[in-house]
Amino acid sequence: MSKWKDEIDGKRLHPESLMMSYGYRPDWSEGAIKSPIFQTSTFVFRSAEEGQHFFDLALGRAQPADGEKPGLIYSRLNNPDIEIAEDRLTLWDGAEECALFKSGMSAISTTCLTYLRPGDLLVASEPLYGGTHHLVEGILPQFGIEVLRFGCSATADDLRARIDATGKTPGMILIETPSNPTNDLIDIAMCAEVAAGYRTEDRPVPVAVDNTFLGPMFSHPLEHGADIVLYSATKYIGGHSDLIAGAALGSAKLIEPIREFRTILGTQTGPWTAWLIMRSLETLQIRMTRQQETAGRVAGFLRDHPKVLKVLYLGHLEPGHPQYDLYKRQCLGPGAMIAFEVDGGQPAAFRFLNNLSLIKMAVSLGSTESLAEHPKTMTHSEATPEACDAAGVTDGLVRLSIGVEHPDDLILAIGKALEAV
Ligand SMILES: *Cc1c(COP(=O)(O)O)cnc(C)c1O
Repeated sequence: MSKWKDEIDGKRLHPESLMMSYGYRPDWSEGAIKSPIFQTSTFVFRSAEEGQHFFDLALGRAQPADGEKPGLIYSRLNNPDIEIAEDRLTLWDGAEECALFKSGMSAISTTCLTYLRPGDLLVASEPLYGGTHHLVEGILPQFGIEVLRFGCSATADDLRARIDATGKTPGMILIETPSNPTNDLIDIAMCAEVAAGYRTEDRPVPVAVDNTFLGPMFSHPLEHGADIVLYSATKYIGGHSDLIAGAALGSAKLIEPIREFRTILGTQTGPWTAWLIMRSLETLQIRMTRQQETAGRVAGFLRDHPKVLKVLYLGHLEPGHPQYDLYKRQCLGPGAMIAFEVDGGQPAAFRFLNNLSLIKMAVSLGSTESLAEHPKTMTHSEATPEACDAAGVTDGLVRLSIGVEHPDDLILAIGKALEAV
């Protein structure tokens, strides 16, 4: 790995201070302060020997000298914009390596294909994002992978007993915390403890955490024992509703095999998207901090509103709640996702959404604009009624992703729409 300056007088700089410069040198590009978009499919070798050496490095026949980066060959393997964006993303989670993908789903599916084999058990939390749910319940079983699901109340002993009862060996534990849309938390350290019990020399049993909802600002799963952090970079990391991308982060040992699968499956992202991610990373800290502050105000307004039955928001957890201690231990803040139940079921939820101004009605989340949707008929419409009941996805539930608008204006718009309920 190349070494980039990340300290002054031995003091480590904060990630937000490094987002404009880390991983890029202006003298690579005529002094351009921003990295150009390297819109190219292939790279010219200076000599046949260099081409041979680059291939030896890429295929693992030679080890890089200290500080040497594998040379550029072809943009399905590597590309300057992708590498710079990857280096910058590692800083937030304190990860050794990052691999960027075409989408959150390609990061998740490529990771699953890297670490699961026919006959393995995939242990996965419940509920999961709709696309991930379809992957683990509908697609991976076609490859002989059995799936065991568990919810936020499972203890390590419960989980071990349920795994052992299947007679199968876990290949990976995949969790999403907080869950969508109910903000239930899964205990990462508990999952790490369970995975360690099944780990052998040639079976890493990684704990992979989809950190899309709180990360990379308010949750750092690697510090709690996770092995791989997964993102839909489409959400907060991209943050402007103008790109689709994903990422997997962790140790070099665990990310390299994922990168090899990425090269062959062709699930890498392109230079233009990687460049847009660099643009987005510069404001990630101020966007997420502002979004979180505003969400706190909106959640408070909703809690006090007579037409709102309940608000599912991490910032409202109180001592004594079964998830409170876990929240304090595992999260650095409540984030900016709120779900709330309006009085009157689906008709009332629809009246609310249809009367909402300023806030756009759309799926997705984490963008500069606030978004609202109805999980039961939209993002979670594939789930059975029983699964919705178990997950707390009720008919009156509305999900809000809070953006960077003025909090007073958001509260005005929400109050007005609630009058129509
Ligand atoms: C959106 C999302 C995904 C899928 O990401 P894409 O970029 O749409 O492929 C996965 N997990 C979570 C939690 C998400 O919100």
